[in-house]
Parts: sequence; structure tokens; C-alpha cells
Amino acid sequence: MIPIQMVDTKTQYLKIKTAIDSAINDVLESAAYINGKAVQDFTVALNTYHQSGYTIPCANGTDALQIAMMALGLKPGDEVITPSFTYIATTEVVALLQLTPVFVEVNPKTFCIDPESVRKAITSKTKAIVPVHLYGHSAPMEEIMQIAKEYNLFVIEDNAQGIGCDYTFSDGTVKKTGTIGHIGCTSFYPSKNLGAYGDGGAMFTNDEALAHKMKMIANHGQEKRYYHDIVGCNSRLDSIQAAILNIKLKELDHYIAARRTAADFYNNAFANHPKITTPFVANYCNHVYHQYTLLLEDLDRDGLVNYLAAQKIPSMIYYPVPGHKQKAFESFGVQSFELPITDWLTERVISLPMHTELNEMQLAFITTHVLNYINQ
Ligand SMILES: *Cc1c(COP(=O)(O)O)cnc(C)c1O
Repeated sequence: MIPIQMVDTKTQYLKIKTAIDSAINDVLESAAYINGKAVQDFTVALNTYHQSGYTIPCANGTDALQIAMMALGLKPGDEVITPSFTYIATTEVVALLQLTPVFVEVNPKTFCIDPESVRKAITSKTKAIVPVHLYGHSAPMEEIMQIAKEYNLFVIEDNAQGIGCDYTFSDGTVKKTGTIGHIGCTSFYPSKNLGAYGDGGAMFTNDEALAHKMKMIANHGQEKRYYHDIVGCNSRLDSIQAAILNIKLKELDHYIAARRTAADFYNNAFANHPKITTPFVANYCNHVYHQYTLLLEDLDRDGLVNYLAAQKIPSMIYYPVPGHKQKAFESFGVQSFELPITDWLTERVISLPMHTELNEMQLAFITTHVLNYINQ
């Protein structure tokens, strides 16, 4: 059996090796390493995939969030509402820009931001909401956009884990996550659903002025070379990564389908088990399974992790410490947030291997050992 990994980018690469190697070689020979044709081609292709107005590539997903907040003109002291149950990057940029992180609860079934909790957290200082499409399941965007409209707030979608997910509005309109808020941000970190072989990221918006501003910020605040109108940063997607992404974007829907097949296998194996809750899929979206995350009830989670590790089955806890308990944010007074659902989930989630190359033998091996431990 092929060794089981959380993410198997190597096996995936070998299947598209010829195309990838030749694309990299083309960039090497073009010598257009920065902002070359590959970057422009990928930007157009991703824009077409998303059917969103404007796509602006950048260096990574964390930068994408930072540039989005800078472009919206958020100022120190402005409050940004975001779930505590997410990866650090979502909130780190809030803190970095000296904005105030306001942590709210997630829905315990979807792991995504809870609209009621958002409403309760709004103050006169609130400027933006950052929903996260955690694990590849969409946040409840229709409700979030409604709240944003009522209170005149910006919405920045953290779509780093959600690329390719379809959101269906109550009137039947379908949109890709990341294209619904004022700005959507994504990451091409290698393990993400659309992963490069290095770092990369992008912002999306339907607003031309915002697109223009984000493009300027990502390029030292300049439009005309050496004339810097605003303070920006240096955040570029390099040509080699863009060339790789161009090839992988064509596979994205197949990759998502492969993840769903693996998720179905897991779901069937764990169905109706009293101690395991399999991922819930809300009727407003489909799931792109960036992670396959179970909720364990009444079980020794560390014991399971160790038992699986002894069988060479990796598993991960995403994330072991929620934002409101991170030392780095103590100066923002985050320890005073009471988020019992977040704390409860943090103690019970476990993510199993999830990627495009899992085969039935591996999946059977994983599910058998999880059940062996739980039923022992
Ligand atoms: C990966 C990730 C990011 C950051 O992306 P990088 O490209 O690693 O900077 C942000 N938010 C979430 C939810 C992520 O999973």
C-alpha cells in the first residue's frame, strides 16, 4: 500500500508531470520570472473559473487578506468580526494592521461563522466581517451579506480553504465562494485545493475601483513606475507558480470530485456511529473537503491520534488553539471573549487524511483502524 499522508502532492504531481515540467521550462526560457505571461494567463483563467469581475494575484493568502483590509481603508481601532475557530492568518492580519479582532462563534454543525453571533458583536466601531469557508464548507453568505447591508459593513471572504465551492442563494442563484463578499481572498499554498509548488494567493472583487487599489497596493502603491501614490507592499505571484497553477486549475474540478469520493467513503464507513459526527453539508452549498473533519463524542482524542500514528495513519487537529486563546492576541483583550461552542469544538475535532490521491485500500485501512479504536 502507498504510505498514507495527510496530503499527497507528490503522487498528484507525477500524474501531470509532463505538462508541469514543460510549463516550468517555458518560464525558465522566457526569463520573464516576475509578472510574465503565465501570471496574466492564470489571472484570466481564474477569473473565468470564478466568473468574478476582477482577479488580482499576490504572494500568498495571508497577504491577500492584508491587502484586502488595506484597500478597504480600515484604520487602527476599527473592529473586524471574525470567527475564533479558524487558522491564525485570518486574524493575524487584523492585528498586524492594528485593527481590533472581535471573535464570534461558529455554527457547531458547519464550523462556519454564526450570523446571530455576528449581530450581537456589532458596535459603532465595526467595519468589516471576515467569514471563513472552513474546511471547504461555505459560510452562510446570504445572511452575512444581509447583515453587512443593514449595518453598512464590508465583507471579506477568507476562501483559502473553499476554492471551487458553490453557494446557492434562496432565489436559486449560484455563485462561487470568494466572489460573494466585497472582496474574496484565497491561497495557493501547496496543500490547498488549488495548490502551487510554493506560495501564492489572490484577491477577487466585482468592484473596479477596489480591484485597481488592490493591484496598486500589491505593487508598492504605484500605478506608474516609481510614482507611489499610496503605501503598499510587495506581494507578487511569481511566473513559475502561475504556470503551475494554470495547469492545475484545469484539474481543479476533478480534484474536488476526487475529494468528494474520498469523503463519501468515510461518510459511509462512519454513518450512524453514536460517537462520530461526520461533516454536515448545509443545503445552501456543496462541500469541497479541503479537510475531512470529524467530531468525536465521549472519546479520548489523543488516544485515537496515537493509535492511528502507530499504524502509520496521520491525523491532525485543526486547530488546537482558537484565536481568542492565542498568546499573540492577548494585548487585544481576546481572553475575555466567551466562546463555549468554539472551545467545545476545539476539544472534539479531528481531521483525517484528505487529498486527491487516496485510494480505496488506503481509505478502508484508515476507516477500519478508526473504528477498531472507537469500538474497542
Ligand atoms: C492557508 C490559509 C490562509 C493563509 O494562506 P497562506 O497562503 O498560507 O498565507 C488563510 N486563511 C485560511 C483559513 C487558511 O487555511
